[in-house]
Amino acid sequence: MRNKRVVVVGAGIGGLTTALAFAQRGAVVHVYEQASALKETGAGIQVAPNGNRVLAALGLNYAINHSSIIAHAVVPTDGLSGKVLARFDLTGQKPQYRFFHRAALVALIAQGANAAGVVIKYGVRVKSISENGSLNTNIGEIPCDLCVCADGIHSASRIFLGNISKPEFTGQVAWRAIIAAKGVEPVARIWMAPNRHVVTYPLTEDTLNIVAVQERETWAEEGWMHADDPNNMRAAFNDVCPELLKILGDVDKTYLWGLFRHPVAKYWHSDRLVILGDAAHPTLPFLAQGANLAIEDGYVLARCCDEADNLDTALALFQKERTKRVSRAIAVANDNARNYHLSGIKRRVAHIGLKTLGTLAPTAFLKRLDWLYGFDATK
Ligand SMILES: Cc1cc2nc3c(=O)[nH]c(=O)nc-3n(C[C@H](O)[C@H](O)[C@H](O)COP(=O)(O)OP(=O)(O)OC[C@H]3O[C@@H](n4cnc5c(N)ncnc54)[C@H](O)[C@@H]3O)c2cc1C
Repeated sequence: MRNKRVVVVGAGIGGLTTALAFAQRGAVVHVYEQASALKETGAGIQVAPNGNRVLAALGLNYAINHSSIIAHAVVPTDGLSGKVLARFDLTGQKPQYRFFHRAALVALIAQGANAAGVVIKYGVRVKSISENGSLNTNIGEIPCDLCVCADGIHSASRIFLGNISKPEFTGQVAWRAIIAAKGVEPVARIWMAPNRHVVTYPLTEDTLNIVAVQERETWAEEGWMHADDPNNMRAAFNDVCPELLKILGDVDKTYLWGLFRHPVAKYWHSDRLVILGDAAHPTLPFLAQGANLAIEDGYVLARCCDEADNLDTALALFQKERTKRVSRAIAVANDNARNYHLSGIKRRVAHIGLKTLGTLAPTAFLKRLDWLYGFDATK
């Protein structure tokens, strides 16, 4: 793709990483984003070693170290009693597992992309894509040699490629909030309760990120995210332990997400169009991997296009390389959704299992995820 014109649709984490990866390999890259400015919600994001490895290979190491904090452990906790069930140490991970504010992560990738010559244009909505790959937008026709659509879970390009499924509501909603909290240990705490769970982790020395998930039968709202009264979240968790009640009690502003999913896309590309990230394979947030996989996608796509003899081969190779890996991660995220929300006897048995694992084989939990965190998309 050297000196070729690559257009990226969507300035989310997947789109911006893709833009940077292509620009570093000599392509002329433009990103088009429908939002009027670079904006990410007030929320945190966990970037695991597999994601950080790619960001470091893209030259963002310095920015990463200055924009995030190092995660020390994952701590499954009984959300009803407040008892810690296990502690799985993350400090041996290389590169480190990190917690970011989303806005900081997006800004640092965008800055890297700008420095590599990428032009990012906001307020441009892609309305349709023609067979030859050119884009019909609100600012006119945009030609390109390759169009990469990182347009998220509600991707129109995914359907354009012949994937017909609509995103389905998974029966779960997530509230997100950030509160002031000083000196919280840098661990991801998973507070598990029947049909619900909360994940908390600090973003800085004085802020704590909260994701609270509840099972629900319907999602009736227009759209898939809206501001919500924090009392609705508190009502859903009114029987949890005092420590968690206090955390939720400090929330004064929250947004509610309907969690949607569609199967991994069957068709990821045509001659000049390719999809990646949530557009191709949305994953439930219960493994904290959706953005990590989108980051990997961007790098692998640029590498395939750089190394293959022609675009056809590159795009086919890209889909082949990625499908197996993302499908495996999605399956684990789905399992976690079930395991976090157990009730009755199954919950008691699972908690005993976690305690035993945490005591007898504390490294076994992370060993099981070596295939995920240890993966090097840059090789
Ligand atoms: C509650 C929650 C917590 C999560 N936590 C984590 C976590 O800790 N770690 C992790 O790795 N993942 C996490 N995820 C998943 C992660 O947020 C997503 O997988 C990731 O953001 C997907 O990135 P993307 O670039 O593919 O899509 P998006 O971030 O959705 O970006 C798509 C972009 O395309 C733009 N766009 C769409 N259509 C058009 C168009 N027609 N024209 C122009 N622009 C368009 C959109 O405006 C948007 O900016 C979480 C998700 C949720 C819901």
